[in-house]
Amino acid sequence: MPPDSSRWRALTSVFASVVEPAGFGLVVPPMFEDLGVFLRLGDATDVVTKEMYDFEDKGGRRVALRPEHTAGVCRAFVQHRPATPWKVWYSGSNFRYEKAQAGRYRQFDQVGVEVLGVDDPLLDVEVIALAWKFYAALGLREVELVVNSLGDEDDRASYVDALRRHFGARNDELSPEARATLERNPLRVLDSKRPQDAAAVAAAPSMRDHLSPDAKSHFEAVVSGLATLGVPHRIDDRLVRGLDYYRRTTFEFVAHRLEGSQNAVGGGGRYDGLVEDLGGPSTPGVGFALGIDRTLLACDAEGCFPLPNPGVDVFVVDTSGGGTALEITHELRSLGRSADRAWEQRSMKSQMKSADRSGAKVAVIVGSDEVAAGTCTVRNLGTSEQTTVARSDLAAHLDALLGPVGDARRPA
Ligand code: AMP
Repeated sequence: MPPDSSRWRALTSVFASVVEPAGFGLVVPPMFEDLGVFLRLGDATDVVTKEMYDFEDKGGRRVALRPEHTAGVCRAFVQHRPATPWKVWYSGSNFRYEKAQAGRYRQFDQVGVEVLGVDDPLLDVEVIALAWKFYAALGLREVELVVNSLGDEDDRASYVDALRRHFGARNDELSPEARATLERNPLRVLDSKRPQDAAAVAAAPSMRDHLSPDAKSHFEAVVSGLATLGVPHRIDDRLVRGLDYYRRTTFEFVAHRLEGSQNAVGGGGRYDGLVEDLGGPSTPGVGFALGIDRTLLACDAEGCFPLPNPGVDVFVVDTSGGGTALEITHELRSLGRSADRAWEQRSMKSQMKSADRSGAKVAVIVGSDEVAAGTCTVRNLGTSEQTTVARSDLAAHLDALLGPVGDARRPA
């Protein structure tokens, strides 16, 4: 709701101002797709198996509300076959059936990018650096970038086997939740934050020992590219992310001012293979998704990226019947000046109260005398200073008082 919604929109504009100059175009994928599109995300992915809002529509089709954007973007790529590299950005809601709590919602929003068709570690660096730049543009200082490589398909499979053996041998000491996760997806046991699992997780084998030479040199190039750009990062060989399809580079942004279990503000990685799974040609992909809700919580925690001033510049108070306010607001808005007014021929006192509440810096007051004289009274609502000006000079007078149009809505 306003005024928070204006901050929401401002965040999306900041994101666009970071990614559009890097050649990303806006993509608007559908909110829902054929269920099969999302099933390609993998049957070990909780987002798909446990958290999806899927249903049958009136035509008997199985559809699902999108739990994330990447699958829909890849489906659009397969369907429309745009030229590569295809660089797109998005902003919109996702839906996951989760236990709602602070920072975790069943409908939440993300901004993100995807690039399809390029197998180059320097692209991973560009993509990660854009997310980093975005957080910096919001003023966030306590966000940490964590990076890892999950290797290629075979590396990942051999690592998963090693984890299965490792945790299997220590099954008795694991929490019941970790035992259940081990059945479905051994990688995710590494995510367990339960104290009971800590020793087994700490002793688990490292992904690094399972990387093929190609995957290893890819990762080294990513890390050295980040260093070249001066993007601070920590390598964490325990970082596995919720979605099954990641290959090679994977990364996450952690906001240290937020509660431990909900402190990931964004993440992404390379997903070579997803386009092929959706019926397209073999096409590498890399991207990220950043949670808007949580990013704003992190901004609150750091006291940055304040609400833009949501008020109008000018509030017109008309005690002559209301028609003059209609004309003045229309004229000012046509010139690009934001303006509001009161209705229902309220008293002067009631209209002045509305003017104060509106957040306007200036009230333009007209009564019958002013209408007859072709003037209006301009009152600075901060200092209470008043000046009478000719109606024809009003716009110029407001420019002098508030600055040119477009300048007046600075952050509060
Ligand atoms: P994911 O798509 O799971 O990789 O998540 C990327 C980012 O989206 C996370 O780092 C969060 O900031 C955000 N996110 C994921 N799930 C939720 C949720 N249920 N509620 C709010 N934000 C979420």
